[in-house]
Amino acid sequence: MIMLSQKYIKITISLILFSLGFHPFALAQEAINSKIVKVGVYDNPPKIFMNKNGNPDGIFIDVLKSISKNEDLQIEYVAGNWSELFSKLENGEIDIMPDMAYSIERDSLFNFSMPVLNSWLQVFTTNKCIINKVEDLTNKKIGVLKGSTQEDFMKFNVKNNYNIDYSVFTYESYYNSVIALKKGEIDVIVADRFFYFSDLCDKEILPTGIVMQLSDVHFAFSKNINPALIKLFDKNITSLKNNPKSDFYISLKKWFNKNKTIIPTYLIWLIIILSFGLFVFLLFTLVLRFKVKAKTKILNDKNKELIKAKEKAEESNRLKSAFLANMSHEIRTPMNGILGFVGLLKEPKLSGEKQQKYIQLVEKSGARMLNIINDIVSISKIESGILDVHLSKMNINNQLQFVYDSLKLDADNKNLNLSFNCPLPEEKAIIKTDSEKFYSILSNLVKNAIKYTDKGTIEFGYANKGNEFEFYVKDTGIGIPKDRQEAIFERFIQADIFDKMARQGAGLGLTISRAYVEMLDGKIWVISEEAKGSTFFFTIPRNLDS
Ligand code: ADP
Repeated sequence: MIMLSQKYIKITISLILFSLGFHPFALAQEAINSKIVKVGVYDNPPKIFMNKNGNPDGIFIDVLKSISKNEDLQIEYVAGNWSELFSKLENGEIDIMPDMAYSIERDSLFNFSMPVLNSWLQVFTTNKCIINKVEDLTNKKIGVLKGSTQEDFMKFNVKNNYNIDYSVFTYESYYNSVIALKKGEIDVIVADRFFYFSDLCDKEILPTGIVMQLSDVHFAFSKNINPALIKLFDKNITSLKNNPKSDFYISLKKWFNKNKTIIPTYLIWLIIILSFGLFVFLLFTLVLRFKVKAKTKILNDKNKELIKAKEKAEESNRLKSAFLANMSHEIRTPMNGILGFVGLLKEPKLSGEKQQKYIQLVEKSGARMLNIINDIVSISKIESGILDVHLSKMNINNQLQFVYDSLKLDADNKNLNLSFNCPLPEEKAIIKTDSEKFYSILSNLVKNAIKYTDKGTIEFGYANKGNEFEFYVKDTGIGIPKDRQEAIFERFIQADIFDKMARQGAGLGLTISRAYVEMLDGKIWVISEEAKGSTFFFTIPRNLDS
């Protein structure tokens, strides 16, 4: 886009200039831009050469690229050896030959740009040959680039000036001359100073201190080239050389950095592969560590659960043993009562009054034992999970009345005021639940209230709470210490009351009540204050929709 717009701007400027009468320049500029400029590329690294990828490269190519970018020139590269390209430039088959030293003879054949680089000839050899001064070249075999200025210079100038003799061998490229030198076919190479910076000049090849023929190298143009192109090159070469940050100096810095450490490609690949391997290894280690951490957490959690379960099982076992010891005691007490009073009844001279009293005591002990056995059976059924729930419609008011009737006498015997409260009329006091379990829960709570109250009142009733009914049993009894209010519902646990035996509790009633309430999808809890009384609550869902 930018190049195109540059082109249009230039054409526009040309047209304006043309209209103003500056047509020769405008025409020349346009002619340059529209023509493809053919540039010869031969092998003289690092000034100019074909790189490994088959593309032209080197200092002159960098300069050329900078100029062509700046001036929007179209360049076509023509590869060949020096002598081929030399004659092509002579014939006008190519337009430009970079890297050409000036000579009077060449001046008659070509046009030259202003100098691009300053150069000189230098003698290079190997450690097999010692060259300290020009005379040491006597009888040596000297390799030069075919058709180059050094060929003439070595064949004539040096021989004549120093009056020494040696033989000169010409090569199509520096590469060929280096091979000949290494094979020992020649003793020295005479090349321009830039040869030192090329990759060809490796450790085996030693630069000597002999330098000759200071010269400049230029772009050489074929004789019939548009002179405007040469002017364009000169203008660009001047500005490139005058700007220390230009492409020219960047290029020199790049190509003259002889001692740069070149990492071999295989080493780069090795580093890439190793880095990749290391990265994969680290990733693998991280993933592994993460997985191990996650697994350890799962195992730890499981361990904790198992420890908890074990502790619970141990606790349960301990409680069961305590329960069994307690139960055997509970059963033995009424049993002793029965056996004792039955023994007394055997007395022949027993009065009728005493007889009746003993029979009543036997009956009471029997009833207490039956209660305990019933509780044990219920608990074992709950424990083994064989209890079913039988839902049916039930009138709450009737149930409350029934509980009241069956326990009124017990309350009277202790001088306690027992009452119950039914806030709903009969037709609205209906729920669907297991009536036997409901009776068992409520009567157990009222029995407990009578058992743990010495004076005052016991009231029970319910409140309508939308989808469920909330029942309560309130007494003015001994109350339950705060820290035992949860425990009393646990299996085989009794609140720590000091006169436990006097109250005749086996510690099963609330456990059974809670199990039943939960089977009926309700909750049970207590609010109590020591020496003031307790209120037990439980909820039962109405269940009428199902
Ligand atoms: P128990 O057969 O011992 O009464 P429960 O499971 O019915 O067994 O009750 C467990 C314990 O809870 C009782 O031993 C008693 O300490 C306490 N408790 C239950 N109801 C009351 C109450 N209304 N007032 C005071 N304490 C009570």
